[in-house]
Amino acid sequence: MAELATLTSYTDKTAEAAILDAISIDEPWSLVEEMVQTVRLSGTDEERSAFGMITAKLDAWGIPYTLHEPECFISHPLAATVRTLGPDGKSYRAKTVAMSLSTDGQEIEGELIYIPGTAGQGYKAGDIFSAGVNLQERSIEGKIVITEGMAAPGKVRDLMRGGALAGVFVNPGQNIHEGICTSIWGTPDLDNQGDQPTIAAIAVNNPSGLELIEHATIGGSIALSTTLETRWRTIPVLVADVKGTVEPEKYVLLHGHLDGWHYGAGDNITGDVTIAEVARVFNENRGSLKRSLKAAWWSGHSHGRYAGSTWFADEFAIDLAHNCLAQVNCDSPGCRWAETYNDLSALTEAFDFVTATITDVTGIVPEPSRPPRAGDYSFNGIGLTGFYMLSSTMSEEARAERHYYPVGGCGANIEWHTEDDLIHILDRDILLRDIKMYAASVLRVVNAPVAPFNFRATTAEFRATLDTYQAAAEGVFDFGMTYRALDDLDQALDGFYAAIPADLEAGTPEAVTCNDAQLRLGRILIPVNYSRAEAFHHDPALSVPPLPDLAPAMQAAHSKVDPAKRGLVRASLTRGQNRLVWALIQAAETARAATI
Ligand SMILES: [Zn+2]
Repeated sequence: MAELATLTSYTDKTAEAAILDAISIDEPWSLVEEMVQTVRLSGTDEERSAFGMITAKLDAWGIPYTLHEPECFISHPLAATVRTLGPDGKSYRAKTVAMSLSTDGQEIEGELIYIPGTAGQGYKAGDIFSAGVNLQERSIEGKIVITEGMAAPGKVRDLMRGGALAGVFVNPGQNIHEGICTSIWGTPDLDNQGDQPTIAAIAVNNPSGLELIEHATIGGSIALSTTLETRWRTIPVLVADVKGTVEPEKYVLLHGHLDGWHYGAGDNITGDVTIAEVARVFNENRGSLKRSLKAAWWSGHSHGRYAGSTWFADEFAIDLAHNCLAQVNCDSPGCRWAETYNDLSALTEAFDFVTATITDVTGIVPEPSRPPRAGDYSFNGIGLTGFYMLSSTMSEEARAERHYYPVGGCGANIEWHTEDDLIHILDRDILLRDIKMYAASVLRVVNAPVAPFNFRATTAEFRATLDTYQAAAEGVFDFGMTYRALDDLDQALDGFYAAIPADLEAGTPEAVTCNDAQLRLGRILIPVNYSRAEAFHHDPALSVPPLPDLAPAMQAAHSKVDPAKRGLVRASLTRGQNRLVWALIQAAETARAATI
């Protein structure tokens, strides 16, 4: 293969033209209008009726599907109150947060203490999920803490650790955004059940919050109550199959959440109808598909911290490990003013592919970046190459013009996770453009002779990360062993990619050898870059630094003046480096064994 670009920009022009041509906005838009009449709390009858709208379409189109019914741990926030105590006591509107403690409607009282929020300017939307609270040595034991931002898991965890009685989160605007505050990813297990939040958490809007902060600064106290229904319940997980003709057992997983907050038009009905439309046109053109499409609609995303996708990852882990070429998440496409793809996630090996595909189909040059520990990325531990999480979005200028603060979906429309996420924030033309973008992205992987991913980009990312860590650990720890293993892997990858013939046909023995190696490289290199958990287990919903095994290097400077700390940092880095280098060695062996 002369150029890696031949691999990452492979296009089956005939199949792609037929599929893009068959996509229309009519079916998706009628499904939007139908689904937007429903409120889709995970595991409720109303949500089930919305699943029924998708299965009715699948039935009509003759697409086979399975409606799984796993039992998962789900939390519905129902009501919250808050009032200041004292002679001028005043009540404010409040919401509680999924997975926080229910006081079962009983008021709890405490002194209110204000800890300023730490969210800086210009941070990515995904970061709102993992930012913590900087207590700066202040004692919050037995107090109710008020701080700015959304009730993210990192913040609630910090308040729990500090012994706070409860947390009050001041949202940035007029609306109060719904959310979930547990750090437990998907369904809890015996190892992480203790991480379930044990404090009450409420959110208020900005004007209320400013008054409450004022109350805190004069040493005031408040009373608050929360009501949640948190329990194991059966949720729907819908998976449709469109079989390919050459390697039907191999597939791309296109997935998104169907549950949501309130009417959830932009988050995520647009995603649900996108997946349905891709399934419809793929099924019509199934004769031209080399591999298969698995289309999945999850419940439990909003109220079970990605419970549906996590259940699927657990239940079908070995099949995913063997056969899944890529997982493609579809969340919040088709929203108004979303003229860029600037908040788009992709694993590094997919950057070239994503850039080529989106530019070809939409004329917009995307800006992919490392996915935050969020969305339905429940597959990092298995090592699946993934791309997209959030979808098209407003430009920075468009947001600034409207004085919008960062949110986690709806193309940056601040109606996200509120009662106002309605059909008026959608855009038919943008939705049509985005559906075509997803269809082409999935098709190019489904039909590529060899999965169109560039692991040389991954190793380049590793090297840049390593340079940062080595600079931070200078004089304390030497990463020479990692550099040498990385050099060797680069050499092996260069040989592997150079030997791939330019005219391969999907499914031929040579193509299968190369494709299997691409999948195996992901299984080896993705977990060491995205997961600290053991294989097939899930990291918490807190940010994971790149090459997490080596991240203790960032503490090395401090350890120079503290011998005890130095010993701890060295032990962590020695073990972490071993895990990483062993993975790099295995990856190099994989590439060499598949060099044809
Ligand atoms: Zn969403």
